[in-house]
This record gives sequence, C-alpha cells and structure tokens, in this order.
Amino acid sequence: MQNARLWRGLLGLENAVVEGVEFDEDGGVLVASVRPSKGKRNRCGQCPRRCPSYDAGSGRRRWRALDLGSVQVFVEADAPRVTCRDHGVVVASVPWARHDAGHTRAFDEQVAWLATKTSKTAVTELMRVAWRTVGSIVERVWDDTEDLFDRFADLTRIGIDEISYKRGHKYLTVVVDHGSGRLVWAAPGRDTATLTAFFDALGEDRCALITHVSADGASWIANAVRGKCPNAILCADPFHIVKWATDALDTVRRQTWTEVRKQAKANDAKRPRGRPRSDAPARPDTANATGIKRCRYALLRNPDTLSCKQVVQLDWVVRTHPDLARAYYLKEGLRVIFKLPLDEATEALDKWISWARRSRIDAFVKLQRSIVNHRDAILASIEHGLSNGRIESMNTKIRLITRIAFGFASPDALIALAMLSLGGHRPALPGRK
Ligand SMILES: [Zn+2]
Repeated sequence: MQNARLWRGLLGLENAVVEGVEFDEDGGVLVASVRPSKGKRNRCGQCPRRCPSYDAGSGRRRWRALDLGSVQVFVEADAPRVTCRDHGVVVASVPWARHDAGHTRAFDEQVAWLATKTSKTAVTELMRVAWRTVGSIVERVWDDTEDLFDRFADLTRIGIDEISYKRGHKYLTVVVDHGSGRLVWAAPGRDTATLTAFFDALGEDRCALITHVSADGASWIANAVRGKCPNAILCADPFHIVKWATDALDTVRRQTWTEVRKQAKANDAKRPRGRPRSDAPARPDTANATGIKRCRYALLRNPDTLSCKQVVQLDWVVRTHPDLARAYYLKEGLRVIFKLPLDEATEALDKWISWARRSRIDAFVKLQRSIVNHRDAILASIEHGLSNGRIESMNTKIRLITRIAFGFASPDALIALAMLSLGGHRPALPGRK
C-alpha cells in the first residue's frame, strides 16, 4: 500500500506494518489491518522473550484505537499463540497494545490522562467507553507506570491514614510522603496486617530510615509502626485531632438543638399550615431551635473563613447559648495550639486539658481523655513541624478521588487512579514527551 507510512503515522503505531485500511462511511468506522514489524513477531505476551509459534489462536482480533476526527478507529490483526518457556501457551504480544487489552496503548494513555484531569462524564463521552472500562485502563497504565520509578525512595517522614470508600463500608490504608507531598502507597483494609504489608514492601533497611510517622492516633497504626520502624517518632496528625474537637462540638450542638426543640414543642402555640397571620403569637423557642439548626457551619468552620452571615450567627450563639459557646471556644482553643511554638504549645495544651476536664460538657470531658492519651504524639507533631495544611489537602484530594471512582469494579482501579493522580508521575498524552 502506497500510503502505509502515512497511515502508520496517523494511527500512532510503532513497530507495525499497515497492510490495508477500510472505511465504512455509513457507520463512521475505520478499520486498519496491521501486523507487527519483523522483530516484534512471535514474542510472549507476558515477557519479551521470542518463542516458537503454537497455533493461530482465535484468528483475527480488533483493538480500539484513538478516533481520527469524528471517525471511530479499530486496528485489526492476527492473534496467534506462542509457547513460552515460563508462561506456557500464550497469545503473542503486539507492539500497539498491552497484553489482554482491547485498546491500543495510545488510547489507554489518553484515557488515563483524562481520568486524572477531568470529570467522569467528560472521559466516558469523549472516549466512548464505559466508566468500568476506564477503571481497567487506569489499572494497567498504573501497572506500567509503577515499574518506571522507585516510589519508596527517600522516605523519612510519612503520614498514615485510613480513607473510607463505597459509602463508608470499606476502607483503604494510605501512606503519604511528607517530604514531597506524594501519595506513596495504598491498599484495601485498615488493620495491622495491611500496614505491615507496606513495611514489608519497604524492606527492613528503609524502615529503619523512617524518622517520623504521623497518624490519627489509631492503635493498629501505632502497633505496626512500633513493631517495624525502630527509629520512628509517632506524631498525631493535627488535622485529625482538630476533627475530633469539631465532632465533639457538633455533638454538643445537636444535644442543644434537641433540648430547645423539646421546649418549643411544650411552650409554643401550634400554627396552622401556610403563611402565618400578621397577629399570630410569636414563637420564641421555635425560632431558637431554628437558629441552632442553622449555625452548624458557623460553628464548625475556621473563624477566618466565615461569611458575614455566619459571623452574625456565631455572635447570636455566644449571646444566647453559653454552653454551646464554651464548647466552641474549647474547639478553637485546641486548634490554635497547633500554631504555637513547642514551649507555648505544651503549656497551652496542659491548660486546655484541665479546662476541658472541668467544663462539665460530656463530649469535651471525653475528648480530653483521648487528648491526654495522645499528649506525647500531639506535642511531637508540633515539635517536628509536620505541616497540617499538606496532610489536610491530601486528605481532601483522596476523598474526592474515592467519590469519582465510585462505580469502578475493584478497589485496585481506585488505588490506580489515586496513585496516577497524586503519586508524582501523572500520565502523559500519547505522542508527546
Ligand atoms: Zn513468557
């Protein structure tokens, strides 16, 4: 064929010969018949070894390739089988696609790039593939990417966390590198065995180089770290400690709301449905309950990010509900400690503990006990300056990915997408280096 080289360029095929091209105008589909170039024939699909041929396999096979304009493109070729010394009878490898894949490498590359950059709908509609297919593609691209670099190099300060997926029924254990801000490792499960698998993959020598481990205070993490990393100092993630306080505050807010609502039911006159008449009696307790219900974000957010309306709500809480206001100041008090230098933080933390103990607010008395248990780890994280901002932003990003990855067939696809997005080696677009 005269234009064979042009077609090879257009289709982005390397180490292949284009034998012919057929265009079905009605279907808008182009099928290119190809064969591997001479040196690439009769190789095992799983290792690069040249092998004796076995049989013709299942005959002709098709791979989805990148569209040319609006035309869908398939690459078609024989799929003979070979006998490998190590792998037995296997389908021979083809230079344009990964083993066992139904799409060309260029197609895989583009889907992986899109999956880390854009929305689910954009990827599936643009590439005309199902979301589950995107999952398998991302998995095999990550398999290859993983081999290109040493993801465990230079780890000294790491953070360990658990992330829920599948609407909170299942968990991933994730490890991040505080030095580079990369996601290093993730696996399904949240127990000592899962984490031990990470330390085993890291190896004894490199485990000994780990100097700091930050975590949320869970005992299964602490146990695995103590067993495997002899030189590591355990630090408490400021992000998680502050979240404990935020949760305690929200508990107090809910309790307050329940009480106020009870009062409203007992004291306030019932109103008929619809817009109240202008002379209808006031219902102060109902208004009170609504106020508590609506002030949730004003209480839980950091004060420097509040909107004007939320500042007004907060002011109202302080004036009308002293117990809830005290709970709010306890939460803020704990948050500020992480911004102080070590000596001031130590003093402030001890003051905070005795303040919370005497607060007579159940949720904070309970929180105070956990804080006492983790006092050393909290102070260690302040002393060694583990940046809270970075841990928090990584947390947000991984949670976003778990939401996007909902619908993938396996957690491996979720892990692959997270590693490709946050592991420091993002996929490149095909044909551009
Ligand atoms: Zn082989």
